[in-house]
Order: sequence, then structure tokens, then C-alpha cells
Amino acid sequence: MSDYDVVVVGGGPAGLQATLTLGRMHRRVLMLDAGGYRNDPADLVHNFITHDGRPPAELRAMARAELATYDTVEVRDEAAVSVVPDGAGFSVGTGRGPVTTRLVVLATGVRDTLPDKPGLAGLFGTVAAHCPFCHGHEYAGTPIAVLGSHAHVGRVAAMLAPIASEVVVLLDGGELDDANAAQLASLGAHVRSEVVSGFCPSALGARVSFDDGADVEVGGVLIGTTFEQSAPFAADLGLALLGSGCVEVDVMGRTSLRGVYAAGDLAHTAALPMPMSSVLGSAAAGQMAASACVADLLALDHGVLAPA
Ligand SMILES: Cc1cc2nc3c(=O)[nH]c(=O)nc-3n(C[C@H](O)[C@H](O)[C@H](O)COP(=O)(O)OP(=O)(O)OC[C@H]3O[C@@H](n4cnc5c(N)ncnc54)[C@H](O)[C@@H]3O)c2cc1C
Repeated sequence: MSDYDVVVVGGGPAGLQATLTLGRMHRRVLMLDAGGYRNDPADLVHNFITHDGRPPAELRAMARAELATYDTVEVRDEAAVSVVPDGAGFSVGTGRGPVTTRLVVLATGVRDTLPDKPGLAGLFGTVAAHCPFCHGHEYAGTPIAVLGSHAHVGRVAAMLAPIASEVVVLLDGGELDDANAAQLASLGAHVRSEVVSGFCPSALGARVSFDDGADVEVGGVLIGTTFEQSAPFAADLGLALLGSGCVEVDVMGRTSLRGVYAAGDLAHTAALPMPMSSVLGSAAAGQMAASACVADLLALDHGVLAPA
């Protein structure tokens, strides 16, 4: 007999919702939370109906309070150190020793690396952001900068055009391809080609300085980040990955390894054009993965198969 039906590794929106769903189905579930969240730099969560503008920590505290009302749910503020197959289930290592579980939901998220520009990290999550859906409206009516000459710069600028008083593209010494150059020209974007030397807070939002040329002041800055898995478990378990670096899952959150599910920023289906990272989307994925756990436990224990 395993200690738990399911161990959920991660206590962000994906892990919290997966745990709630499992608790509501009276499954023995342990949620482990190492205490670091992707949106730690952000002051507020946006684009989540009923929670638009709520501090991320407040959202998590509300979720924890809900979990506390379910008898079969256990929450520990500690990291998982290993996840290894063990008989028909898994052994999950923790600081207090290993626990055994029939199924595992990985909800460990990803971590961002920002462009290496002085002052940018201090603005990330408020004045600087990587997602126009999460942070864009907050800069409405001001000049909004888009940093970089990457393949999506025209697309990001076009998304911001209805929101900004002016879109300012910071090429940072890079060059535009023809398609992006045409897109930016059609938007009437203001393009600055000089190398960006840094960012600092200003009354409007941020002041951008250049190696050469006059500073520009903007209300917000959209940047691209690179990201990597927060935890090693996907690699340790040999899970199939997508080109994005995320774990490949089916629509129910099942990974390539039976008994292991993944939800939230660390995973997506191959059908998505890119990771569509969001708090609400992660919570939804957590609910799906937990539903798959319930379905698969029914099949294992009672031979009850989901409708084809
Ligand atoms: C600056 C910023 C602002 C954002 N703003 C918004 C916004 O306004 N609206 C929106 O919808 N989205 C926003 N996002 C995106 C959003 O934060 C993510 O999509 C969401 O947090 C992903 O949830 P998750 O549960 O997958 O991962 P996370 O929230 O990153 O949670 C990961 C969890 O895994 C845990 N963990 C990691 N390793 C271990 C381990 N070894 N053992 C145990 N636990 C572990 C962590 O402690 C954490 O509990 C923002 C992102 C950033 C970077």
C-alpha cells in the first residue's frame, strides 16, 4: 500500500488546483511546495477572471485555505529531491525521507532568464514584462517599448499597438528581417537601432538609455525571456520533451511515462504553437491532470474505463 494515491510536486496554480481536485475526490494526496514561483517578481496577477489585479501570494493563500478543509489532503512546505519509479508506483524523496505514491503530478514550473541589461531585473514583473496579456493594459496610453530584433518583434508590437500611445522598438544593435521591418513600418512604430545600455525607473515607468543617442521614457517594456525547467524530474524520468523544452502531455496531462502527469508552465500539448503560460491556464491543466489521475485509478482498481 502506497503512502499516497498521488503526490503533487509544486504548489503554484497548477499544483494547487490539481490538489484541490484530488481532495474533492477523496484521494490521498500530498502536495510538496519548495516555495519559489514563476511570478514571484510580479506585484499583481492579471487576466484571471475574479482575480484580476490580485497579488500572487494572496491568491496562493486563498487556495491553501481551501485545501485545508479537505481531510485527505496534506500540504508540506518542502522540496521534492527525487522522483523514481518504485514497483507499481513511485518513491518521492523529501528532506524528511521518501514517501511512496501510486501516481505523480509534476507541477514544478519553469524559471526565466532575462536579457542581460543593467536595471532590467529590478523592473521585471511591474514595469517590464514578458507577456502582453499579463502586463500590457497596465501601460495603456503611454509609449511601450519592445526589446529585441527577434522573429516575433513585429507580432508583439502589433499586439501592443491598440494599447500604447506609441510602440517603441529597441533593436539593441540587432537587425530586423524584411517581414518584421514591413510590419513595424505599417504600425508606424518608432524604431531605435542603438545598443541599449540600461534601464532605470522613471515617473512614467522606465527610462531607457543607449550607448549612443538620447534616452527615451516609456510606460512599460516588453521583453523576451529564455526559460528552463525548475526541477530535474522530467529529465530524471526520461519524459518526452517538446521543442519548447516543455514536457509533452496529452490533453489530460499524461506524460510519456505511465503514472506521471504534468501540468502548468512545464508542460503543454504538441498542438499548441508555444507554451501558453498563464495562471488560469496552469490551474486548468492541473484540474485536467488530476481528473486523469482519478480516471486512471478507477481503471486500475475497478477496471472502469473512460468512455472511448
Ligand atoms: C513576471 C511574471 C508575471 C506574470 N504575470 C502573470 C499574470 O499577470 N497573469 C497570468 O495569468 N500569468 C502570469 N505569469 C505567468 C504565471 O506566473 C505562470 O503561468 C504560472 O505561475 C505557472 O504556474 P505553475 O503552477 O505551472 O508554476 P509556478 O507558479 O512557477 O509554480 C511552480 C511550483 O513548483 C514548486 N517547485 C519547484 N521545484 C520543486 C521541488 N523540487 N519540490 C517541490 N516543489 C517544487 C515551486 O515551489 C512552486 O510551488 C507571469 C509570469 C511572470 C514571470
